[in-house]
Amino acid sequence: MHRADLHLHTIHSDGVYPPSELVDKAKQAGLSVISITDHDNVAGVREGVAAGSQLAVEVIPGVELSTSVDGREVHILGYFIDTENARLAEFLRFLREERLKRAERIVEKLHSLKIPLRLEKVLEKAGEGSVGRPHIAHAMVEEGLADSFQDVFLKYIGFGCSAYVEKNHCNVEETLSMIAGCGGLSFIAHPGNAIPEQVLIRLIKAGVDGIETIHPSHSPDTIARYRGIAMEYFLLESGGSDFHGGRRNDAAALGQFTIPLSNVDTMRRRLFVHQK
Ligand code: AMP
Ligand code: FE
Ligand code: FE
Ligand code: ZN
Repeated sequence: MHRADLHLHTIHSDGVYPPSELVDKAKQAGLSVISITDHDNVAGVREGVAAGSQLAVEVIPGVELSTSVDGREVHILGYFIDTENARLAEFLRFLREERLKRAERIVEKLHSLKIPLRLEKVLEKAGEGSVGRPHIAHAMVEEGLADSFQDVFLKYIGFGCSAYVEKNHCNVEETLSMIAGCGGLSFIAHPGNAIPEQVLIRLIKAGVDGIETIHPSHSPDTIARYRGIAMEYFLLESGGSDFHGGRRNDAAALGQFTIPLSNVDTMRRRLFVHQK
């Protein structure tokens, strides 16, 4: 089986495995190409690439960024980026600082709801990685303040809930040009059930290279629809498991949401065209 999974998280964002362990699990699942796509962070790429070279697993440098397009949250995956780019590093550092401020505000909101979650516990869960809502959920479960990870999202921190705080979303045009400026390709991550045409058009005009058609949240109909859109607008196709490990999905998800290596070859050809 020669397949690729281009959407994976590590401890450098809200995943539970360090990059080398993730690569090991990917190998065991029979994957030959993967991408590490942590939220607002590329710190796991170097370790992943090194582990991959030991195990003959190709690790494509990646990142996942949250943007806002006409009032909708749209996640963008960047692949083949130069992770040493100074502008990128500064941009990501800013986003991680904003995440920290947001985590503080969520904890304050929880306190006003009489939930005594300590910020230190959340930061302990996040470690060196970009802090996010999953760390808050894990911390609350561990502290006995909630019954389950899902419960925390449903009752407190999910969109519109009492302790919900919106994240700082990047401007999508800036995000796509940042990725292109780092020599990378950008993909619309898990567009889900309905992406309004105006949003799609704006993304295409801003230079998006492709669309993540394969994702655990996509039904066969959804996949077919985005495949059609990709063909119609000359977009490339990507896909992956969005694996985080732990309470969200276990290692069984690895190898279940994949794309053929021919899709990765097509990406490389597109990169070649960009470089001209
Ligand atoms: P954040 O980037 O801090 O807003 O957190 C978003 C992350 O939380 C996503 O990437 C998922 O990993 C996770 N997530 C979002 N919504 C849910 C949910 N309803 N249940 C479980 N995990 C979720
Ligand atoms: Fe995540
Ligand atoms: Fe996402
Ligand atoms: Zn993701």
